[in-house]
Amino acid sequence: MRNRNLPFVCLLLYGLAGFSATSWAGAIGFRVSPVFSGPELRLHVEARFRGDADGTTILALPHSFGSVQHLNRCIESLQVSPLLSDLQFSEDSSFVTVHHAPGQNLLMSYRVVQDFENDQLSMRYGLRPLLQPEWFHVLGNCLFLLPDGWNNFDVTIDWTGFPSYWNIHNSFGSQQQHQQFQAVGTNWLESVFVGGDFRILEAEVFEQPVFLALRGDDWAFSDSSLLALLQQTIAIQREFWQDRDIPYYTMTLLPLAPRPGMAGSRNFAHYQYMGMGLTNSFAAFATPSPQLSIDDLSHLFHHELMHDWIGCKIRNGGPAEDMQFGWFSEGFTEYFAYKNMLAGGVISPEQYVERLNFDFFDPLYSEPMGQVSNKLVATGFFHCRDIAQLHYWRGCVFAFYLDNRIKMRSEGQQDLHDFMLEMLDYYYESNVDLYNNFDFFLKNLSRYLGEDATPYYHRFVLQGELIPPNEFQLPPYWKIFVDSDGLPILQLDQTAPGWREGMQR
Ligand SMILES: [Zn+2]
Repeated sequence: MRNRNLPFVCLLLYGLAGFSATSWAGAIGFRVSPVFSGPELRLHVEARFRGDADGTTILALPHSFGSVQHLNRCIESLQVSPLLSDLQFSEDSSFVTVHHAPGQNLLMSYRVVQDFENDQLSMRYGLRPLLQPEWFHVLGNCLFLLPDGWNNFDVTIDWTGFPSYWNIHNSFGSQQQHQQFQAVGTNWLESVFVGGDFRILEAEVFEQPVFLALRGDDWAFSDSSLLALLQQTIAIQREFWQDRDIPYYTMTLLPLAPRPGMAGSRNFAHYQYMGMGLTNSFAAFATPSPQLSIDDLSHLFHHELMHDWIGCKIRNGGPAEDMQFGWFSEGFTEYFAYKNMLAGGVISPEQYVERLNFDFFDPLYSEPMGQVSNKLVATGFFHCRDIAQLHYWRGCVFAFYLDNRIKMRSEGQQDLHDFMLEMLDYYYESNVDLYNNFDFFLKNLSRYLGEDATPYYHRFVLQGELIPPNEFQLPPYWKIFVDSDGLPILQLDQTAPGWREGMQR
């Protein structure tokens, strides 16, 4: 996730009859329909699945998503039938216990509601269900409830009863009234579902469809130029990861409300934007300000799209709120987002050096809390922006350090990109993640470094020690100076032979 805030620029019912017990084993069928009531929209969801063989099924309610809390308050009128006893749950509970006949086919229904009254969309509310009379935008974790512990099952989603002029669009397809896919675990719930007056644009990357679904009329750029940026970014990234055969991708963009008091203060951000990398997709939000140019969004695109691999395919693992690997999932994402922007000609070499200095080295080395432990950064990640940024800065500087060390050791034959491709090969398996399988990371990195990587990981990540400037091993085109305040500053020597190819690798 990345958010930026200058100057931190950063249904109808199915009948139960007619379904045999076996046909629903390992499958869940959802039916979503709108309920319009005056100025309010709710989504009525029905789900049909088979209850556990022992007669007790635990349903998992949405609870938190990053810093967004109490998402269970967006679920109303939850019912399950037929049951042997009442549903057991309490306010703010994350789980509901259901007692039923062993292996019983069950019908669950509930309504998804917008749990705040303000219709002026701000970053604070962007990741909560947004339900307005003309449109909706809901993340998968708030739209679909699942029996806890399910793994490997078929999902069908039917969209019924929506106005015929509404566009239904999501992380799994566009304009489909019936959707079907196989789910492994709950990762697919990291997804976005929209409907209503969204404008849907389509392009192709490596002959695969890419969509942009957006609202808002006050953007300072055209829909088509935004689609072109998305298309270009996806092409660069799929090339980088040598991962071209991705059958579907979508991005959603919602306008944030103008910021109150925006006009007067010099230090007040004129605009904000943020994004959330999801399954086959990312959800973005931005203030349609004349100052928000398409170039501003370029970095957001590169960052969020990079999460398709660093985050979605190479997963951190562990509990959802555990950010102990944030230095990797956010910091390495930043490093390679900028490297790809450089390689794709989106930024110049001079801008690349400037970004490394001003967005990473300078803030990290001048931050009074720059040397706190990784544990502290992980704990404070969703509570304190100043702390959270350390993952971005520290991880990016560490990636720069490793990339150049590997280049120097291999005499330019290998780099961190090669390491990342091997990471993708290894970690892109279900049940393999950094949380449970970090030994591969260290072992493989040690191979690239030609020495044990563990001490470096302990010093520069876990303990939070700033990498001493004289410990960077840099190719001739990089120079590192220390200014009078002791801050390291990178300089690029464009007279050094091979600088362009070297830094772009
Ligand atoms: Zn991110």
